[in-house]
Amino acid sequence: MQQFSTIPATQRSWLNIASDSDFSLQNLPFGVFTSDKFPEARIGLALGDSVVDTLALFDAGLLQGVNSLSREHLRASSLNALLAQEPETWRGLRLRIAELFTAGNQTLLQNPDLHARALVKQNLAQLRLPTKVGNYVDFYSSREHASNVGAMFRDPQNPLLPNWLHIPIGYNGRSSSIIPSGIAVKRPLGQLKNDADPAPTFGPSKQLDFELEMAFITGRNTQLGERISTSSTDDYIFGMTLLNDWSARDIQRWEYVPLGPFLAKTFATSMSPWVVTLDALQPFRVSGPEQTVPVLPYLQTQGAQTYDIHLEVWLQSAKMDAPLKICRTNFRHMYWSMAQQLAHMTSNGTNIEIGDVYGSGTISGPTPDSYGSMLELCWKGTKPLELPDGTQRKFIEDGDTVIMKGWAEKDGVRVGFGEVRSVVQAADLVNA
Ligand code: CA
Repeated sequence: MQQFSTIPATQRSWLNIASDSDFSLQNLPFGVFTSDKFPEARIGLALGDSVVDTLALFDAGLLQGVNSLSREHLRASSLNALLAQEPETWRGLRLRIAELFTAGNQTLLQNPDLHARALVKQNLAQLRLPTKVGNYVDFYSSREHASNVGAMFRDPQNPLLPNWLHIPIGYNGRSSSIIPSGIAVKRPLGQLKNDADPAPTFGPSKQLDFELEMAFITGRNTQLGERISTSSTDDYIFGMTLLNDWSARDIQRWEYVPLGPFLAKTFATSMSPWVVTLDALQPFRVSGPEQTVPVLPYLQTQGAQTYDIHLEVWLQSAKMDAPLKICRTNFRHMYWSMAQQLAHMTSNGTNIEIGDVYGSGTISGPTPDSYGSMLELCWKGTKPLELPDGTQRKFIEDGDTVIMKGWAEKDGVRVGFGEVRSVVQAADLVNA
């Protein structure tokens, strides 16, 4: 079993960190950033409203005690090289930074130049994708979401397909179009066909939707043929992010038979920039929903397998002054756990790689205000959302900004994910 390194809830920083900050001393998530002053990409850890520049600390000789850490692990455009080291390296780095910023540690306070170099305000940092993503898989693990979609498009009395309670359903997505928070999403073009249309047309999607998801990022490789058991998945999962798995419902409806989603999903997937480690999430570990049908032995788990993570979606049109909260839910509602997803994914011996992204699938809760997509919130367009600017939404319009937030909180400690935020731009109609 994995030995996690948590930073005690009582440990406090000398740095001024707002009590509602996602980035407490107990969090210290990993990311990759550049700044106007330092245009070379480097590894940073978020703390309060700042980014801790690991390269500045390394060059000052303050990270010498971290097992097998070298400069090229930190002056890097992704976390992959750092994660390729033994877990003691990235764990040691995180704990050393916690130590340097713990109340009573004078090292940086006594060196104002280094203090200034080692902390970059987050609003002055350009945050990149945290890992180089070789593989992207998207699961479909929320029972509420799968039931809602099944009820809308198939049979309200019998919404789940026969395999759903036995297999963590998923498909292989496209890693090249995973983009970081802040990058605009262009409305996709595609084949569209309503039931009444005699033939499809080609044009901009009229049913652009978000999907509220979380992702786990793998921190180790496996060999082809190797399988990961549910009891050892924690050794392979480095951490988690927020994910907006953009979807074009109209393109999807026409193309998905019989092989599943294709171009309706591959035009963009937006990801939050900070990877919150499983270490930081341990205090928030909880049991998921009871599984109502016995699962096969390779999918059985013991103990609490999920995390109590609050999730919200906010929407702001171009005319609105502030975003409106349109969904509130929790990661703990997911029926299939990450351990089951990863054990299932590798049950045929497929190999995983450092930096892979595994999306949870749309996270919907039990109540109508906890649904994680416009498709469900507006129930296939039958219950439009009223916005404060006087307009209605059934799906996402050009100029709309979608913001997803996530955080865990307990005993006065908050461990948050920041946000994934994207504005939607009009389709590019040249050559359409
Ligand atoms: Ca999805």
